[in-house]
Amino acid sequence: MTIQTSICPRCGQPSEEGLCPQCRAADVRLLTCEPFVTAVYCPVCESQKRGKTWSDLQMPREDLIAEMAVSATSIHEDAKDIRVSVRAEEIAPNRTACTVEVEATLYTVPVRETCRTEIRWQRESCDRCSRISGGYYEGIVQVRAMNRKINAYEREVAAKIAEQAEESLQQSGDRFSFISDLEDSKDGVDITVGTQYLGQEIARAIKGALGGRFTTHPKLVGEKEGKALYRITYSIRLPFYQKGDVVVSRGGYFEVRDIDGQRLRVFDLQNGTARTLAEGEVERRIGNVREAESALVVFTQPNLVGLMDPKTYRTRELNTVPWTFPVEGQPIRVLRDEEQDRLVIVG
Ligand SMILES: [Zn+2]
Ligand SMILES: [Zn+2]
Repeated sequence: MTIQTSICPRCGQPSEEGLCPQCRAADVRLLTCEPFVTAVYCPVCESQKRGKTWSDLQMPREDLIAEMAVSATSIHEDAKDIRVSVRAEEIAPNRTACTVEVEATLYTVPVRETCRTEIRWQRESCDRCSRISGGYYEGIVQVRAMNRKINAYEREVAAKIAEQAEESLQQSGDRFSFISDLEDSKDGVDITVGTQYLGQEIARAIKGALGGRFTTHPKLVGEKEGKALYRITYSIRLPFYQKGDVVVSRGGYFEVRDIDGQRLRVFDLQNGTARTLAEGEVERRIGNVREAESALVVFTQPNLVGLMDPKTYRTRELNTVPWTFPVEGQPIRVLRDEEQDRLVIVG
């Protein structure tokens, strides 16, 4: 038998000193909750305000509720092996009742307590939405084309690039890199941006995808806290010729692969070689490989291929081109040269 040095003065159980663990655990409150906690959020974009700082909500609402409820809860400092669970109930449009349940051990004794708190949701226009609704912007990206109108494909690429740049900057925490307007006008696309950095990123990415060049035009619009305030126009000029255009030069057909200033890097659709053409050597443009039609290969012979014209369903005979391998019964892509009434194999 072990010799006890003392007994608990309250319950008479053996104890090492003073109250036994059960009586100590029964004496303290494991858990206290604030009656309510306020969550400030933006009704437009759902950003959350913590202290004075706004941030985009990166977690599901139920996780936010759990986090808010736990922030209203204090757990006794001697508790160990803590497990917390939160049950939530929407009791009004701007109030969520929460029951916080905590299981833990106190002085080796397992304990469990619950307490109730409430989240009060408060709507406030965030810093970003205030800027947007106040008409604030730092630049405009203007996408135009050289001596022609920009086409539907270029409009779509420009808009998609702009939206991707906005999303990736905002995801990295740059809240003010917003697009406040994306306007399709007769001449092109105008993208109004909240930061110059976003404008720069969009202009660079559009130039990378569609070619051309861009110039920046700052305009002094005023002063803010002693600093000159500029708005910048990023003026993009897409090249006259585009990637995928098929052009005619000295009777040959060439697909434009790249545009480098006044020089076109092209692919010779007759013999399959790469070369460059000066813009001045181009006689005309017959279309773009994006608009190619599918023609059925009816027969193949040495140096000759028969294609079914997809418009007239008549068979046309074309010289074979050494870089393609037409197979009878399979389709091949062609562009139509209306002026010469010819089909041109583009692969
Ligand atoms: Zn005791
Ligand atoms: Zn907002």
